[in-house]
Amino acid sequence: MSIKTIHRDVVVIGGGPAGLAAAIAASEAGCKDVLLIERDRILGGILNQCIHDGFGLHEFKEALSGPEYAARFINRLPGLGIEVMTGTIVLSLSPERILEVSTRGAIQYIQAGAVVLAMGCRERTRGAISIPGQRPSGVYTAGAAQNFINMENIMVGKNVCILGSGDIGLIMARRMTLEGAHVEAVFEILPYSSGLPRNIQQCLNDYNIPLFLNTTVTEIRGNGRLEGVKVAQVGKDRAPIPETERYIPCDTLLLSVGLIPENELTRDAGVAMDPITGGALVDDTFMTSVPGIFSCGNVLHVHDLADWVSVEARDAGRFAAAYVHEKREASRQRITIKEGDGVRYVLPQSVSGERDFILSLRVTAPWRNRAVVVRSGDKKVRRKKIVRLHPAEMIRINIGKDALAAAGGSSLEVSVE
Ligand SMILES: Cc1cc2nc3c(=O)[nH]c(=O)nc-3n(C[C@H](O)[C@H](O)[C@H](O)COP(=O)(O)OP(=O)(O)OC[C@H]3O[C@@H](n4cnc5c(N)ncnc54)[C@H](O)[C@@H]3O)c2cc1C
Repeated sequence: MSIKTIHRDVVVIGGGPAGLAAAIAASEAGCKDVLLIERDRILGGILNQCIHDGFGLHEFKEALSGPEYAARFINRLPGLGIEVMTGTIVLSLSPERILEVSTRGAIQYIQAGAVVLAMGCRERTRGAISIPGQRPSGVYTAGAAQNFINMENIMVGKNVCILGSGDIGLIMARRMTLEGAHVEAVFEILPYSSGLPRNIQQCLNDYNIPLFLNTTVTEIRGNGRLEGVKVAQVGKDRAPIPETERYIPCDTLLLSVGLIPENELTRDAGVAMDPITGGALVDDTFMTSVPGIFSCGNVLHVHDLADWVSVEARDAGRFAAAYVHEKREASRQRITIKEGDGVRYVLPQSVSGERDFILSLRVTAPWRNRAVVVRSGDKKVRRKKIVRLHPAEMIRINIGKDALAAAGGSSLEVSVE
């Protein structure tokens, strides 16, 4: 028996803040055939387990919890007539935009006019950073522990060490403390925190939890359950210094050592990838190298704030709807954008020059009172002075098409000066 293929104009994969904003924007742009697919049983993505506040400061000028922030978007879906399939996973995506989806074991094919990729990230695990030692229970990624505690009401441990000062680790240091655990310390291999300064203050300093920089876990010990970890300072080459090694008894180790964009479907579809962001290469409409496939949110590049995810995804959704109506091919005239000194990555990686756009970037190290400068050859397109630059904070800069046209040229370089 052959499986029927259904058609939808815009299909959005992933029901987190990126997918929600993209679906709403596509619908508001006039596309009346929008399908939002989410593998979880509920919409909201990672926001569902983020019960702390701090969301929505830019979007709604209010401090909301993750579920409250998600609800603001979810509540708008029925009024817009957006079709939602939860409990449904997209298994594969072809360059011709045919999706293979599974809903509780039943396979279905969907031909999409345009696809918006919004699959988010997964966390790096112990295996990804190869911590030596035994393999006891009690070693969790910070997000997995957050899920157990906030969603399942299961406490994961009493005496906790945290490796990595990413935002999830910082937020979990505070959560574990509020739930009655003792958090010994957060250890960070880099000479600076990889989390937002506001989270260092609100999650560590406010609870007297120490942060040790230039320090890592060198061994995990425990038979059955974790009994302790060895930590050591690292040198400039990030190798542990043996004489600084010390043992800390603990029953739980949380890892907050980075996020990996979930791009298996993206690669399936033959989309060109950026090795630095781990996401797709996109243009100023968030279209990837495969016409009709767009990308936004954490699957495109890891964001610091959900609010910026929503802003970016709205554009992706709007342009996906326009693609369906106009059948636009990738713009022939391209201005490429490259990272210069002090810049880890920039996005989009190319623009048409036909419209204003927002440049998103991250710097390679913390600085004070520097400027981000965008140049076309030796002509300056834009200079933005920034008081505090930090690798944990995404920088967003508006670039006007008039400034671009005045400078001319076929490539831009973005650097910190
Ligand atoms: C622990 C934690 C704390 C945070 N705290 C803050 C904060 O205080 N303030 C703030 O502004 N931001 C915070 N953030 C960041 C913010 O939550 C993220 O930037 C945002 O959730 C990313 O949105 P997204 O839609 O791209 O991804 P996600 O929210 O991860 O959503 C992706 C969705 O796609 C679905 N999916 C993936 N693959 C498939 C598939 N093949 N088929 C179907 N569905 C699929 C997933 O199930 C998921 O629901 C935090 C993030 C984390 C992890």
